Amino acid sequence: MLTQEERKNLANLLFPELKYTAEELEEKYPPRNLPPGAKVTRLGPSPTGFIHLGNLYGAFVDERLAHQSDGVFFLRIEDTDDKRYVEGAVKIIIDSLRFFGINFDEGAGLDPVTGEDINTGDYGDYTQSKRGEIYAAFAKKLVEEGFAYPCFLTEDEISDIRAKQEAAKGNPGIYGEYAPYREVTCEEAKALIDHGKTYVIRLKSTGIPSGGEEAPEKFKVMDAIRGELEMPVNFQDTVILKTTGIPTYHFAHVVDDHLMRTTHVVRGEEWLPSLPIHVELFEKLGWEPPIYCHTAQLMKLGEDGNKRKLSKRHDPELSLDYYRRLGYHPAAVREYLLTILNSNFEEWRIENPDADIDQFMFTTEKMSNSGALFDLDKLNDVSKDVLLKIPAKDIIAFLKAWAQEFKPEVMGIFKDEEYLEKIIDLGRNDAKPRKDLIYAEQIVDFISYFFQDMYKPEEGFPQDVPSEDIPLILEKYLATYDHSDDQSQWFDKIRDIATELGYAAKPKDFKKEPDKYKGHVGHVSTVIRVALMGRSQSPDVHTIQQIMGEALTRSRISGAMS
Ligand code: GLU
Repeated sequence: MLTQEERKNLANLLFPELKYTAEELEEKYPPRNLPPGAKVTRLGPSPTGFIHLGNLYGAFVDERLAHQSDGVFFLRIEDTDDKRYVEGAVKIIIDSLRFFGINFDEGAGLDPVTGEDINTGDYGDYTQSKRGEIYAAFAKKLVEEGFAYPCFLTEDEISDIRAKQEAAKGNPGIYGEYAPYREVTCEEAKALIDHGKTYVIRLKSTGIPSGGEEAPEKFKVMDAIRGELEMPVNFQDTVILKTTGIPTYHFAHVVDDHLMRTTHVVRGEEWLPSLPIHVELFEKLGWEPPIYCHTAQLMKLGEDGNKRKLSKRHDPELSLDYYRRLGYHPAAVREYLLTILNSNFEEWRIENPDADIDQFMFTTEKMSNSGALFDLDKLNDVSKDVLLKIPAKDIIAFLKAWAQEFKPEVMGIFKDEEYLEKIIDLGRNDAKPRKDLIYAEQIVDFISYFFQDMYKPEEGFPQDVPSEDIPLILEKYLATYDHSDDQSQWFDKIRDIATELGYAAKPKDFKKEPDKYKGHVGHVSTVIRVALMGRSQSPDVHTIQQIMGEALTRSRISGAMS
């Protein structure tokens, strides 16, 4: 065992001149002055430029916890793995989340004028690569106190250790008897360094590895989503600073979340297995750990009917970009996320159909801990309901912003916004409103037949109507067409055409005596529908013609005759 003096010498050898001491840093970043119960949360993405649904899902939890409690939500860039840095990534993260209504109160950000990375808030720097001096200060403290040491093992030596452990059927890793540098002295370390040997800093774990029959020592920890967890204590001498001096995730997270006074760490369940390391690090540093909230993986139902993880390679819907490109309204995505985040949200929504979504009290206890099922069909259903509540004018503004960015070739539809408003509102104000609108790309396609330059017939005339009848139906339709007819006058005329050409005026008559007729009025009106808009399904034809106007109606019908 090294004496206190020896540990101090070792610490000074490894970290000779530091900008701060651990005590100074504690003072520099005092506890936050917030109302009781206020939660401090953070998002810690790596700047890979790829921001996905899982990030949004987690960010939503962070944002709700902080803002529901008058707390603080900040952005920290976790760039200790510099291979993954992508230029402009901070902007992508901030912009993508802002689009979905997630705003940070402090942290990494961008200068609105120069676009350069800047920080807002008193707990920065908020970019891990700029916090080297801070990590060093706490690593030094751990060495001084005998809770960390430099380890000079080479890759080959580590492989040999692994082989030995395998042969002995022991636990893999660097710990206890397999950690030869736990008691390295300052002199020994200096000699090795002078010989050009590189080293990492490892935690000197006090956990005891389980061996043979013996059950591993356990500890209990509360997870706000999963409840009380019982886990084996850590016994690994985990690396805290790499040979480059850059911290590992484990160490950086512990130091940062302590100094930034995070109260709740929301992160993916892939971090659950390393929780014992983090708990030991907090303990060795003499700090209270935050409350952990390990979120469930986002899953989807695979073709084989089994749940599987969403994957970057196979599932384009994992990328947030996917929703922006297709033009999902952020309110729909938020609403949908809450349905998968909190099991009681849908019930709340039924009871409070018109309430602002932010009035819903989000809780971690109501979160699923066994894989949240993400389902695009369900998102689409939610989106239909959400869009129904958004006034046409606002939908148009949203569509316009989307089209400008993603589909400038359709900007023509905004030339006459009054016309567009009628189209958007088509069937939306009925007693049983139509729910045709889902996302921008689909909406533009859905309404395209209202615009001559976008018109592309999608379906041909119905097969069950003899082809020689088609021009006859259309001719008669055009000849009797009066744009001022009301709904029933208009339909009476279609019935007349049907009867004249040998079709039943009512579908039920045709059903009763199919041999007597060629078909029924529905077949006739489908012919008209297809001639008008190139589709066999659509909202009410009379209303559509009223919106289209007489000229376009007539020209579509006559165009379909030739
Ligand atoms: N940088 C980590 C990641 O991207 C963040 C995990 C955390 O939130 O602690 O997975």
